[in-house]
Amino acid sequence: MLRYIKSAFSVCFMLALSGGVAYGQIDPSQLCKGKYWTEEQGKEKLQEFAKSYHDKASWETRKEKIRQNILLGAGLTPMPEKTPLNPIVRDKKVMDGYTVENVAFESRPGFWVTGNLYRPLKVKGKVPGILCPHGHWEDGRFRDDMQLRCAAMAKMGAVVFAYDMVGFGESTQSDHKNPLLVKMQTWNSIRAVDFITSLKGVDEKRIAVTGASGGGTQSFLLAAVDNRIAVSAPVVMVAAHFFGGCVCESGMPIHKAPGLQTNNVEIAACAAPRPMIIVSDGDDWTRNTPDVEYPYIKHIYSFYKADDRVENVHLANEEHDYGISKRLAVYHFFAKHLGLHLKKVEDKNGKIDESFIQIIPKEKLSVFNNEHPRPANAATGNEAVAALFTGK
Ligand SMILES: [Zn+2]
Repeated sequence: MLRYIKSAFSVCFMLALSGGVAYGQIDPSQLCKGKYWTEEQGKEKLQEFAKSYHDKASWETRKEKIRQNILLGAGLTPMPEKTPLNPIVRDKKVMDGYTVENVAFESRPGFWVTGNLYRPLKVKGKVPGILCPHGHWEDGRFRDDMQLRCAAMAKMGAVVFAYDMVGFGESTQSDHKNPLLVKMQTWNSIRAVDFITSLKGVDEKRIAVTGASGGGTQSFLLAAVDNRIAVSAPVVMVAAHFFGGCVCESGMPIHKAPGLQTNNVEIAACAAPRPMIIVSDGDDWTRNTPDVEYPYIKHIYSFYKADDRVENVHLANEEHDYGISKRLAVYHFFAKHLGLHLKKVEDKNGKIDESFIQIIPKEKLSVFNNEHPRPANAATGNEAVAALFTGK
């Protein structure tokens, strides 16, 4: 009897762990939020972490623990079932060298991921696919810098998908205070890989992800848990001491568990040996990247003899954004590793020129409107929506 009670308790405990993360039941002592450490503590912690690996095999043991804990902490153990995406793709707009369509797909029955698909015109053969999550800036996927980078990379020869964070843009089924956002957004990103690789003409071996700030968090979390991401570019986010200030970045226990402590530097390093560029600036928590985070991650790449596949572009006089110089860094890196054509966006002097891109008003980028309302099966309300994302 006692054995039964013990085993029942342990099953319940495991369920509680995997379900974790049930709504309203997150243990705050397991969270590392915002500036959880000082810069000095962040550096010291990296030195501590480094003692647990010295080569590829020992790093991969550590990496597997980190990866498993992201999934467990995010309540994605077990993974929800991959149900039909039921994609909606419409309102094609033909632009200068690319097209833009309005898109929705069902990441879980009753939850619709909303976004825009930018495709190159006149291409032969298979092309790369690039996911573009956005950060916590007003207007999310509709803002100019998002449209510029998606359009430029499409004209360079990639199929590019920009998608709303939960609670932003058209994603209004839940707000952006939902305590299970890490789970929901990570799952939506995994399904975005399913969506983009399902499109005719997309090369499933050349899938990339890039985003800035909270979009950077989504980028390195996805690269860590989904090996289909071949190339990544987290912008102005990877830091030893800062864990992301929003519930969608640090609101679930993905950095800490009994017997494990990690940070976003190690999570980003889980991309090794796949090509990655880290873009940083002088005005936020990435200010130390050339001296702290980048050498640390490069050392992990050296375990794979892949030091040349990780780069850092540090813009000491710049701020926290995904502005033109950051976009240029990523365009060059993606051209090198995905086979994009920089020449298609260069002017006659060989400089990249985005002036061919016409900014589209958000009304024309919206997939749902009076004429095409969101499907009737869509759940609404934070708790009801979170409940859709449970495991099998
Ligand atoms: Zn957020």
